Amino acid sequence: MSRPSDRKIAMAFMAHPDDAEFLCAGTLIRLADLGWETHIATMTAGDCGTMTETPWAISARRTEEARQAAAILGGRYWCLGENDGLVVYDKPTLRKAFDMFREIGPSLVFTHAPKDYMIDHEMTSLVARAASFVYAAPNISVHPLREGSGVPHLYYCDPLEATDPLGNVVRPTTWVDVTVQLDRKAQMLACHASQREWLRAHHGIDEYLESMKRHVAMRGREIGTAAAEAFVQHRGHSYPKDDFLAEIGKEH
Ligand SMILES: [Zn+2]
Repeated sequence: MSRPSDRKIAMAFMAHPDDAEFLCAGTLIRLADLGWETHIATMTAGDCGTMTETPWAISARRTEEARQAAAILGGRYWCLGENDGLVVYDKPTLRKAFDMFREIGPSLVFTHAPKDYMIDHEMTSLVARAASFVYAAPNISVHPLREGSGVPHLYYCDPLEATDPLGNVVRPTTWVDVTVQLDRKAQMLACHASQREWLRAHHGIDEYLESMKRHVAMRGREIGTAAAEAFVQHRGHSYPKDDFLAEIGKEH
């Protein structure tokens, strides 16, 4: 019997441009190298990610940065056109997500942790979970279904600092060794030049790339490797429960 992962279509569905590059780009690169089709989708164009520019100017810059990052994967970038700080779980957002899922037909979805430091992330996580469950139901959308579409494997990325908003450290179910992919992951993150500047001004973080490298090194130490990305698999009713990422995550 074929498994959803046999279709080899991976999608990261995140809140903002650069979230995927921080949290799961190394794994996407691994999958692309294995012949997978890859997609990075964001809820917003990152319209508040600036101290000086208009929403339109920064959105244009950031969608171009995200497109360039996805191109390093050989992947496609999508944006649902929501606004920073205003991502909600409602009917219009769900409908846009269902239609995008119909067009992509993912067999594997990455999204934010259900509990994270920012509500945009939590709302995106909920929408990704809902869309994964229902997008292949015949009556949910008028968009045509790609052949073989069904409930995909769903994995939650680490929350910021691997900690939920109540201070609990998240224990992953699954680690993917991204040591070999780390340079390309950093290249993808570096595409987001606007944020390297803005984070320094807003958060006092002067090390956009270094914070990512510290995180993957921390997860890497847990499995005895130089760099890893970590995930929690969604194992609710009707979602695929075999931890297929763990199988590919150990191979070099
Ligand atoms: Zn974000």
